[in-house]
Amino acid sequence: MAEVLVYVDHVDGAVRKPTLELLTLARRIGEPVAVALGSGAEATAATLAEHGAVKVLTADAPEFADYLVVPKVDALQAAYEAVSAGGSLAAVLVPSSAEGKEIAARLAVRIGSGIITDAVDLEAGDEGPVATQSAFAAAFTTKSRVSKGTPVITVKPNSAPVEAAPAAGAVEALNVTFGDKATGTKVVSRTPRESTGRPELTEAAIVVSGGRGVNGAENFSVIEALADSLGAAVGASRAAVDAGWYPHSNQVGQTGKSVSPQLYIASGISGAIQHRAGMQTSKTIVAVNKDPEAPIFDLVDYGVVGDLFEVVPQLTEEVKAR
Ligand code: FAD
Repeated sequence: MAEVLVYVDHVDGAVRKPTLELLTLARRIGEPVAVALGSGAEATAATLAEHGAVKVLTADAPEFADYLVVPKVDALQAAYEAVSAGGSLAAVLVPSSAEGKEIAARLAVRIGSGIITDAVDLEAGDEGPVATQSAFAAAFTTKSRVSKGTPVITVKPNSAPVEAAPAAGAVEALNVTFGDKATGTKVVSRTPRESTGRPELTEAAIVVSGGRGVNGAENFSVIEALADSLGAAVGASRAAVDAGWYPHSNQVGQTGKSVSPQLYIASGISGAIQHRAGMQTSKTIVAVNKDPEAPIFDLVDYGVVGDLFEVVPQLTEEVKAR
């Protein structure tokens, strides 16, 4: 059976959910071989094996922490060369984060392969894996496959379930030679974000977002209360962020983050195309807006025409009562 390289996103050995989702998709097209880099790489092996990784290639070096993406591309390329030399490699899968997309793009250029980004589904095909993407505010879905080289595919979080699938997960050290380019950009400082106790926006199964209709930083407590009752992350439109009501790290949209949760609740958000660009692939979309003509209603599965300050607290109470 062909192998599928899966780039592992982890924090000090704790594997992030989008990688486990990638393993589910990887098993549809071959045998997953995980590539874990940096501090705690070996500690990822047990979790990866529980979710189907037949092998875990690991490497740790100061370069991974000290520099931006290039050393990671060097390592992923080394894994690509090692695995493709030994047999058939069906694809390289990478989580669709900003960093993941840069790593994938650089790898694709280096190995002369086609790339598909932001896939929301993946299946086996006669001529290679077929990726589904969502376009134009989810008005279209496209199915594509790479026609040159080994497909490099980035997949959006929440595109597949996390499934237990015990496998060997044998750890093997990866030999990486860093090119000179590794020194091109150096990390000068890292400032960890203060934890809110809420899930990471791009990984959350549920996102509750507020827009200009929230009308003030202090009123975001209404959005946060609903989010907390659902165990959700909080998002914001650019209008709310530009007004200084919520941090830019929570902005959803073209110039913010791209989310694809099971449930997206937009409150006081009109549904501008740039906002849609970041949430259109959500599985179920709910909007609360007092304007029945708001464009967001063209996109929703469930819409509530009403004042968010009346509707959202009732929703929170209803969720808490269950
Ligand atoms: P508005 O469009 O002002 O909508 C507010 C909505 O709240 C209205 O529909 C109103 O009916 C409703 N409302 C008001 N009061 C209440 C109430 N009490 N109860 C219920 N509903 C109420 N936007 C993003 O979000 N993310 C991006 O990443 C982004 N990137 C951009 C990039 C570029 C290059 C450009 C040009 C724009 C970008 N924008 C982005 C901005 C985007 O065009 C919109 O301006 C923005 O999304 C509007 O935010 P909003 O829906 O919160 O505000």
